[in-house]
Amino acid sequence: MSYEEKGASVHTLNATNIVAFLADIFERRGGEEYLGEPVTMAEHMLQGATLAESQGKSETLIVAALLHDIGHFTSEFGTFSMDDTQDRYHEEAGAKILEEFFPPLVTDCVRYHVAAKRYLCATNPEYFNELSQASVHSLNLQGGAMSEAEVMEFEKQPNLIDIVAVRYLDDAGKSATMHTPGFSHFAPMVQRVVDQHCAG
Ligand code: FE
Repeated sequence: MSYEEKGASVHTLNATNIVAFLADIFERRGGEEYLGEPVTMAEHMLQGATLAESQGKSETLIVAALLHDIGHFTSEFGTFSMDDTQDRYHEEAGAKILEEFFPPLVTDCVRYHVAAKRYLCATNPEYFNELSQASVHSLNLQGGAMSEAEVMEFEKQPNLIDIVAVRYLDDAGKSATMHTPGFSHFAPMVQRVVDQHCAG
C-alpha cells in the first residue's frame, strides 16, 4: 500500500517518515517521463546524485541533487495545480515541501536550480550551447537568460557555488545509458541529512 493510499499528507510528515515518503514518490512516480529527455524523472534525479557521489561531493549536496526536481510531483503536495498551462514553478513547490526537514543548502539548491540555469546562460556563453533542446524550451518559459541586474542580485546567494554545482549535475543527469543505484542506496544518507538538520 502506498503512502498516498494510507492517507499520508503534507500534514502528517515528520522527520521519521519523510524519507519513506520520498522513497514512495520515487517508486510510484519515478517512471514518469522527464519531458523531452531520454530519461525518466527517477533516472534523472538518481543520475545527478550518483554523479555527485562519484565526484566526492558532500552528503548534503548529493541529497540536493537527488531531490532537486521533487517539486515536479506537485500533486503529491496538493496545492500547486491551478496554473499548469505555463511554468509550474516546480522549484518553489519542491523547496516548500523540503524546508521543514532539510537544511537551507538543500532547499536553496532546489529552489534556485531554474534560476541557476538562467544565471549560467547569462554568464557562461558555452553553457547555453550545451543545454538540451527541452531545457532551451523551458528556459524560454522561465524568462530566458538573466539580465545584468538579476545576475548581480543572484550572486548575493550565500549558497551560490552549491546551487551552480547542482545545476551542472541536473544538466548532466540526462543520459540514456548511465546506470545508477536506486533510491534505497541514498536513503540512509537522506535520513542522516534530515536527522542532522532536525536535531539542530
Ligand atoms: Fe532537473
